[in-house]
Amino acid sequence: MTTARDYYEILGVSKDASAEEIKKTYRKLAMKYHPDRNKEADAEDKFKEISEAYAVLSDPEKRAQYDRFGHAGIDGRYSEEDIFRNADFGDIFGEMGGLGDIFDMFFGGGHSRRRRGPARGSDLRYDLSITLEEAATGTSKTINVPRMENCETCGGSGAKPGTQPKTCSVCQGRGQVTHARNTPFGRFMTTTPCRECGGEGRIIDTPCSECRGSGKVKRVRKISVKVPKGADTGMRLMVRGEGEPGDPGAPPGDLYVFIHVEPHDTFERVGDDIVYEAPISFTQAALGASIMVPTLHGKVKMNIPAGTQTHALFRLKGKGMPRLQGRGEGDQHVRVIVRTPTDLTEDQKELLRQFEESKTPEQKEAKGKDHSHKGARNIFDKVKDVF
Ligand SMILES: [Zn+2]
Ligand SMILES: [Zn+2]
Repeated sequence: MTTARDYYEILGVSKDASAEEIKKTYRKLAMKYHPDRNKEADAEDKFKEISEAYAVLSDPEKRAQYDRFGHAGIDGRYSEEDIFRNADFGDIFGEMGGLGDIFDMFFGGGHSRRRRGPARGSDLRYDLSITLEEAATGTSKTINVPRMENCETCGGSGAKPGTQPKTCSVCQGRGQVTHARNTPFGRFMTTTPCRECGGEGRIIDTPCSECRGSGKVKRVRKISVKVPKGADTGMRLMVRGEGEPGDPGAPPGDLYVFIHVEPHDTFERVGDDIVYEAPISFTQAALGASIMVPTLHGKVKMNIPAGTQTHALFRLKGKGMPRLQGRGEGDQHVRVIVRTPTDLTEDQKELLRQFEESKTPEQKEAKGKDHSHKGARNIFDKVKDVF
């Protein structure tokens, strides 16, 4: 499981940074971490991270989405490719390659595929929705994941059984060619897929009829996934080796299951805590009452003391979500909402009039003190006093 870092933090800009500031900051960081210039081991990861942050924050719609919902708003709505699709990298990288190269780097083209031998399979993403109850208890799910698998007829070579693919003579089987490029930022080595063999490194004269020479066929696989209790939206579960298969002799990619916890009709989740609104009558609020409150762990009895105000909060300790990290559970906060009756009978109205009449002088005097502003009498009380 990875917890994604905050995009603003990654770029080191404030939440209200202007588009111009974000672009300037990104340009500086990109020059520093571009893998062609920076040979430190984590430069490429760092570069991807800042580029993703920039792709989101430079797009007003994605940025608004991110500001409102965080990573969940982005992961839930855009595929990884969508995140980068309309991002304005063009005039930042100029002749350095622009979007094409960035795309290659992220989605398996030239840069990251310095292949010396067979390539590892691609990672897959699967979006899995679960209910809040399932998140509370943990759950096992069987998911159907469509993916490409090696063709059984040709063993993944793509060549008709009995024939062999030839090694490409242009790239000597490497699948890519390297050349130097001059840019305003200096001289960069760029690697592009070989045109002769389409980046495959080999040429098939007689393709396999089952897979038409691709060596892969589409299959749907059933995979069971264990979702731990306490799972939340934005969580990613990695299922090792369940991505797309690699070239023959290379390992498969991994499957990433993105968890989405559906909104709940009754409960609102805030981290490990649950917020629940309990409607009570004004007599219950005034006299005190014992009510049954639903929780994720079943119904529990809760005592409301006499004289409870509307929106008062009560805490049911340990009745929230299980904590993913560490032990125990969060709490459930019960917000009491006092309902004013709207369907009173004549008799009940009469009783309330009598109640109003029966108030002691102190009670009448104290009416302004119930407001949240301590002791402050509101303007209407003062106006009434004048008459
Ligand atoms: Zn085949
Ligand atoms: Zn080639």
